[in-house]
Amino acid sequence: MLARSVSATLAGLAFAGLALLVLAGCRDGASGPPTASGATATAPVDTPDTAHRAPPPAAAMLDSGAVALPPEKRRALVQQDSLWQKALRVHYRAIVFDGHADTPTLMAEEGYDIGRRHTPAEAHLDLPRMKEGGLDAVFFSIYVPSYLGEGRRAGVRARRLIRVTKRQIETYSDRAALATTAEEVRHLARDGKRAVLLGLEGGHALAASRDTLRAYARRGVRYVTLTHIGTHSWADAAGDGPRHGGLSEKGEQLVRAMNDAGVLADLSHVSDSTFYDVLRVSRAPVILSHSSVRALTPNERNATDAMLRALAENGGLVMINFYDRYVQQAGGGPAALDDVLDHIDHAAQVAGVEHVGLGSDFDGVPRLPQGLGDATRLPWLAHGLLRRGYSKEEIYNLLGGNALRVLEEAEEAASGDSMARVR
Ligand SMILES: [Zn+2]
Repeated sequence: MLARSVSATLAGLAFAGLALLVLAGCRDGASGPPTASGATATAPVDTPDTAHRAPPPAAAMLDSGAVALPPEKRRALVQQDSLWQKALRVHYRAIVFDGHADTPTLMAEEGYDIGRRHTPAEAHLDLPRMKEGGLDAVFFSIYVPSYLGEGRRAGVRARRLIRVTKRQIETYSDRAALATTAEEVRHLARDGKRAVLLGLEGGHALAASRDTLRAYARRGVRYVTLTHIGTHSWADAAGDGPRHGGLSEKGEQLVRAMNDAGVLADLSHVSDSTFYDVLRVSRAPVILSHSSVRALTPNERNATDAMLRALAENGGLVMINFYDRYVQQAGGGPAALDDVLDHIDHAAQVAGVEHVGLGSDFDGVPRLPQGLGDATRLPWLAHGLLRRGYSKEEIYNLLGGNALRVLEEAEEAASGDSMARVR
């Protein structure tokens, strides 16, 4: 439904600041615990409050949104800059949806407890800090290292992470729940509960089997990252040698099976040719659950402008990764919050604001940009976007509305009753 010719319609974003990772056998950064150091393209820019005349799509916002930032923090911010008043209102009314966090690995390996508040050095998010930061929904990565291969060991690891994640969520069922549809995310957000969704990071864990894919979908998995760092029997990975020139025929079958099951294809780790092969095959939107922009930070994990345009054509979504190495700019030293905003800006200008979201990579990377060190810092993104001239409708969609739309379109593309019911 949304305009896809972007350059003209987004020309009004006058303030828009236009401004190799291969650590083997780990998540996006390194092994070990982190040491944290939408709307239509024609929406007017920086309009006054116009919610009574042009309400943003219901998907993108809550009827109300309690600002969970401690009062003294809030007062200090508003004193510092009056724009914070609006930023806090917009941020906490938004359904904020993060496309990728590696927290299940901490649950399985670090004795992490999602109900307890951790320091940023221990973990980047937990239920107390999700609440404080207004983070309503998150895709937890069921991360399966490439070296586990396509056999039994990969399946054992995936099922274990799903189990520990569900167990932790059930322990705190008064505050969080597993979600498998956009509607469930909206309901949970309205009830003030955190929604946790499952993404399988590493298509090798499917053992090249459509039945296995459907079994994961029944367990609640709603996206599959086609590869991690290693090329496998049906898809080439970014940063690994090509074996198929992209997606093999078996891979095409698996992508269609994902469409049928309402499972999103996540192309964050695949090679560029796999990316284009999947776009050719998929009849549902695809996502990059945690990738940034290659024009600003050259890295094979980031999307080129041509990929961003193709993604818009597909109706898909790039969810901007916060990892310091994927957003730092040439010669610029350590990354800061504004670098992440630059990546969001660039992706919005090239693909359209309705094709951009957030994919923090919290708990999966060793270093985050200054000012964005954990989930409590998310309101600073809304503030930065307002400062750059984004309308509140656009911000609702960037923060989560676009992710809900894509999830919904994947559900609609699923073939009738074959969409996996969760058990
Ligand atoms: Zn990753």
